[in-house]
Amino acid sequence: MAKVYFVGAGPGAADLITLRGKALLEKADTVIYAGSLVNPALLEYTKPGCRIFNSAKMTLEEVIGQMEEATTRGEECIVRLHTGDPSLYGAIREQMTLLEAKGIPYEVVPGVSSFCGASAALHAEYTLPGISQTLIITRMEGRTPVPEKEALAGLAAHDSSMALFLSAGMLGQVQEQLLAGGRPPETPAAIVYKATWPEEKVFHCTIADLARTAEENGITQTALILVGHFLGDSFGRSRLYAPDFSTGYREAKE
Ligand code: SAH
Repeated sequence: MAKVYFVGAGPGAADLITLRGKALLEKADTVIYAGSLVNPALLEYTKPGCRIFNSAKMTLEEVIGQMEEATTRGEECIVRLHTGDPSLYGAIREQMTLLEAKGIPYEVVPGVSSFCGASAALHAEYTLPGISQTLIITRMEGRTPVPEKEALAGLAAHDSSMALFLSAGMLGQVQEQLLAGGRPPETPAAIVYKATWPEEKVFHCTIADLARTAEENGITQTALILVGHFLGDSFGRSRLYAPDFSTGYREAKE
């Protein structure tokens, strides 16, 4: 029985796909991958004769058309390979809805999102005691609108850790919005370009020089913008590992 698998490719490095995702790529008869961001090295896991399509050059209808043709050919394993984790800015819901209408079964296999790749590159923890216990994942409004209640300035007002996707080409506006939300210009920020790829680059800066840092280093896309005091030097110790703290697994020490 044919099935479409929406697989998270991970942030870039070919060995950061899940074991399940890799096994499906090895088995796949057809792979449709998001060519703008998925590392082509992952395609080396496919078997000889596997049909490979780059969705960067296709419309939603063409993608679904290829999935449908694959099922008609009697193929069992069709992989739709998305960057990072498919549930973030992956445009998978519209595909799943169309597959349901056509009675084609599907399954989703999660992946390591690029915001995890970025924190790994930074040696950072988004949720630091005494600093922030919240990570806001969002984007600057571009050609895709963002609901008014989620305007960047409003979200910035929470003072939490932030990871901005799809915004590296609009850092002038990002800066403006973060400041408008009341975040001080000296708030630590970072730009992580191609996290976990061989050409990964990390730039530390502040909100005030986000745009300049990107410009000086020629970064316009495939980058995440991280903002918040989790990138600073101070934080509190965790309660979980404190000697005077009891848990279901460990008694507090005197
Ligand atoms: N589903 C993906 C996000 C897709 S949206 C995920 O979970 O990561 C595409 C945006 O993701 C890019 O504009 C960029 O902001 C970010 N991105 C994807 N891969 C990246 C990487 N390796 N390093 C930095 N940013 C990345």
